[in-house]
Amino acid sequence: MQHRLGIIGYGGMAGWHHDNSKRVENLECVAAYDIDPERLAVAEKKGLKSFTSLDEFLAKGDFDMVLVATPNNFHKELAIAAMNSGRHVVCEKPVAMSSQELQEMIDVSEQKRVLFTVHQNRRWDKDYRIIRKVIDEGMVGKPYTIESRVHGSGGVIHGWRAYKVAGGGMLLDWGVHLIDQIMYMVPEKVTNVFCRMNSIRTPEVDDYFKTVLTFESGLHAQIEVGTYCLRTLPRWYVNGDVGSVYINGWDCAGGIVHAKKLATEWVPEIVQTAAGPTRTMAPRPKEAIEELPLPTVETDWADFYRNVMGVLDGKQELIVKPAEVMRVFKVMEACFKSAETGEAVAVSV
Ligand code: NAD
Repeated sequence: MQHRLGIIGYGGMAGWHHDNSKRVENLECVAAYDIDPERLAVAEKKGLKSFTSLDEFLAKGDFDMVLVATPNNFHKELAIAAMNSGRHVVCEKPVAMSSQELQEMIDVSEQKRVLFTVHQNRRWDKDYRIIRKVIDEGMVGKPYTIESRVHGSGGVIHGWRAYKVAGGGMLLDWGVHLIDQIMYMVPEKVTNVFCRMNSIRTPEVDDYFKTVLTFESGLHAQIEVGTYCLRTLPRWYVNGDVGSVYINGWDCAGGIVHAKKLATEWVPEIVQTAAGPTRTMAPRPKEAIEELPLPTVETDWADFYRNVMGVLDGKQELIVKPAEVMRVFKVMEACFKSAETGEAVAVSV
């Protein structure tokens, strides 16, 4: 069945949705509403019908789905207005300003019986899909620690993202993706959240944060987002009980190092460091490791919309479920609390 999309907030990300949606069969972007006439002129130029009023957009727009892609503080009211008009809603991330706002959005979607989902598109990132494959297929054994990070070096947070009132800061901006990726991958409850935040060059919001999430089994995941890191570290680094995997940067360079033998199966060399001898930190002999390439994966962002349309057509189960988005929001709220109090926060999410 053909689906038609109307966009609220035709800024940077909406333009990306519009351009990329052309690759999705049976999906057509048809209209846009924005408070900025310049953005509406761009939308018109790109073939969309533009609206200067939300009421008119919802009353006269010929679409069954709405994408909300405004700054974060407007998501709730706009998504609810669209759902009240009977439209299905895809909302950009972070879905809202709090778990309470999210609950209000979920309630309306249930009352109106419309689809409601969130654009957690980084579930389709190649680096993430590779890490999932490595872990799911046991290539490093049972993981005991996962590190996921994104580092920028400019030290500048642009536009509304630098302001608290708009839902700015790195936890809400990037953290929501990285936490979602980990929670979508690990089929366990989070039991403990510890977080530290800094405002190095952006006074109002966090421009650096580091959090450690602990899961029921004891597995822990460290997630770090920095905007002023002039030297970087791997995007992913995972240790399991039979190996390690790392991925550097967006080009997905990296590898797997697999243990061929246990440390008890050879006589460890004693390494003489400047400050004294060590066996524990001696490198493994070459014959005790196997270096493997990363597996290849095929992934396509457009599968997000293909899934949404498959759900509307009764053929697929929704991938980004509101209940999962809620779990992530509760963890982010625990991060804020931990950063504020300096304490780890016990949760059961
Ligand atoms: P942007 O500033 O480029 O665009 C926002 C647009 O919304 C602007 O055109 C602005 O005029 C319009 N707008 C502001 N208030 C409005 C209102 N009340 N009603 C209607 N229009 C309004 O911002 P952006 O980078 O496109 O981000 C928009 C959303 O997309 C944010 O929630 C952001 O977190 C999200 N985003 C997601 C990803 C992703 O990978 N999923 C990437 C970038 C941005």
